[in-house]
Amino acid sequence: MPRLAVLGYPVGHSRSPVMQSAALAELGLGDEWSYEAIEVAPDAFEQRVRAMAGEGFAGANVTVPHKGAALALADELSETAREIGAANTLVFTHNGESGEAEEAVIRAENTDAEGLLRALPGPSRDRRALVLGAGGAARAVVWALLREGAEVEVWNRTELRSRHLCEELGGAPVAAPDQSAYELIVNTTAVGLAGEDPFAELPLSQDGFAPEQTVVDMVYGGEPTALLRAAEAAGASTVDGIEILVQQGALSLEIWTGRPAPLDTMRAAARG
Ligand code: NAP
Repeated sequence: MPRLAVLGYPVGHSRSPVMQSAALAELGLGDEWSYEAIEVAPDAFEQRVRAMAGEGFAGANVTVPHKGAALALADELSETAREIGAANTLVFTHNGESGEAEEAVIRAENTDAEGLLRALPGPSRDRRALVLGAGGAARAVVWALLREGAEVEVWNRTELRSRHLCEELGGAPVAAPDQSAYELIVNTTAVGLAGEDPFAELPLSQDGFAPEQTVVDMVYGGEPTALLRAAEAAGASTVDGIEILVQQGALSLEIWTGRPAPLDTMRAAARG
């Protein structure tokens, strides 16, 4: 019975187990496959992952704060994971001939980037985009938007990090963005996760959105975030963190099972 899991620290808040379990059931794999949450501290991460292949795991999702460590320990990297510098999906395969000790090969993938692109309402080519944040999520977003041909500017509270990110991946750091100048605004910061006021912490004003803009908030919770509520009130298109979670999770599921993911089922389960 192949096992799957999400590894994080903490991981209790993750919607991946309920979403992926619903998807496995919908695909008729619910009796064979399982998906669980595993909380693992950073100093135990590598040892835990290396043990997983021997425990029947076929793969895992990786979330905060392990995406860099997942990339570092993998035997094989997808081009996307290597370029972004982070992995959110691991695949374990067994390489041993019979009679020899079986050795698991750990492959690292990144489905966050493609997940974001699939969640957007339209193409990003030549669109002017503002990415807020310079952490792990920002790296995947900046990489994805640049690959699509968007013109990307990056703001971060700690300016040095946005400068480093742009030196590595491309895009231009911006210290005081003009909110009205962008067709796409993506919040990849953790602001809003613990109820922080986005208009106090981010360089955005509540009444500064416009109908022709698309606003994405990677943060997810039960309710639309304050950021998305303000964008919606201005008539902008919005994409929430759950939709991005669904899209990246669907791509991971397809890698593990080789089956098309049931998006509607995953969406309904993730939204609870
Ligand atoms: P991370 O690597 O820890 O980066 C955190 C980012 O948030 C940094 O840019 C940090 O700025 C910024 N930040 C934190 N508190 C802030 C504040 N009070 N004011 C301004 N900026 C602040 O985390 P991550 O992996 O990029 O994840 C970021 C968020 O995206 C999390 O909420 C996570 O849950 C969400 N996420 C969602 C999905 C999804 O599928 N929906 C996927 C990935 C991530 P500094 O550099 O200045 O500290």
